[in-house]
Amino acid sequence: MSEPMLLIRNAELFAPARSGNRDLLIAGGRIVAIAPWIDPGEGVPVRVIDAGGRFAIPGLVDSLVHVSGGGGEGGFARRTPALDPRRAVAAGVTTVIGALGTDDVTRSHADLIACCRAAAVAGVSAYALTGSYRVPVRTLTGSVRDDLVLVPDVIGVGEIAIADHRGSQPSAEELARIAADARVGGLLAGKAGTVLVHVGDGADGLALLHLASDRHQVPTTQWHPTHLNRHAGLLDQAAAWVARGGSVDLTTSTSPALLAAGEVAADRALAQLLSAGVPVSRISLSSDGQASLPHFDAAGRLLGLEVADIASLHATLRSVVRAQGVPLELALPAFTSSPAAIWGLARKGRLVEGADADLLLLDPSTLAIETVIAGGRLREAG
Ligand code: ZN
Repeated sequence: MSEPMLLIRNAELFAPARSGNRDLLIAGGRIVAIAPWIDPGEGVPVRVIDAGGRFAIPGLVDSLVHVSGGGGEGGFARRTPALDPRRAVAAGVTTVIGALGTDDVTRSHADLIACCRAAAVAGVSAYALTGSYRVPVRTLTGSVRDDLVLVPDVIGVGEIAIADHRGSQPSAEELARIAADARVGGLLAGKAGTVLVHVGDGADGLALLHLASDRHQVPTTQWHPTHLNRHAGLLDQAAAWVARGGSVDLTTSTSPALLAAGEVAADRALAQLLSAGVPVSRISLSSDGQASLPHFDAAGRLLGLEVADIASLHATLRSVVRAQGVPLELALPAFTSSPAAIWGLARKGRLVEGADADLLLLDPSTLAIETVIAGGRLREAG
């Protein structure tokens, strides 16, 4: 039985640019028409949703989620669980980039891809990264390039760890070789092949990325460093990285312990970058969902650990507008169209004709999520 079409009437459209009061027609999982008034025609089965002037925004694109669980610092009993995709949908996240992290021994890419495919049943479009913190890179088929060319789910590499005591302490040459392989694999498969770089709290910050860019023929756009709001000094380095052509990712999940240790909350960090003139097209945000959030003392001893929450992405969108005073239209690309472009997902992150029908209806005053449409279907909102 074919799905009835969905007709959303009377929505204030943020595509993510503010585009006025519009109707949107959805069929076969895609947005097929956007206009001030849409007449679906006589006898066509269509379900009408009156948005009543609510804001229609693209479903959120989360640049880093440990879809199959993460962590493990602190021993086997501290491994974090896999993502419940219904929780992602309820939190307005309709596209996720899934990755392994510290643990690539008890966690596998096969399991990651299985969890990504399972998420599709709930309406979440989930893509996988090959690799982990470790260098030389752990892969599914034996090489980064082969994974990108042969495995449809794999769209990039990561998180490769730099400036972190849990990383493999890679050289600039090793980093450049990974990015070059990802670039060629991406070119062959028609994918972006972006390399997500986990930046730890080491004093060297982004120095290794600059060195790799200085010495090697890899475009700065191939790397996408994350956790750049980890401390104020690293956030300052973000603008310099974008100035030489790169892009940056901020982490929305946090904990009182991490904030006390100097982390800059993502809403403040985004407001700071935008007011410094960093183009929003070069900024994405990610929840780091299901990661462990370990905190260590100065001697490297584990003090405690919490689980990162995917709902922090929408919470940050709300607070950047409501607490930091950034207009929704200016902040929204960092949660939608910018990550979609950085990851090469042409049908994600924008509400335009032909795009995938992933969208949220928000209360205009509180920005609370009232309706979620993911994969062209109505889903359970938060
Ligand atoms: Zn990380």
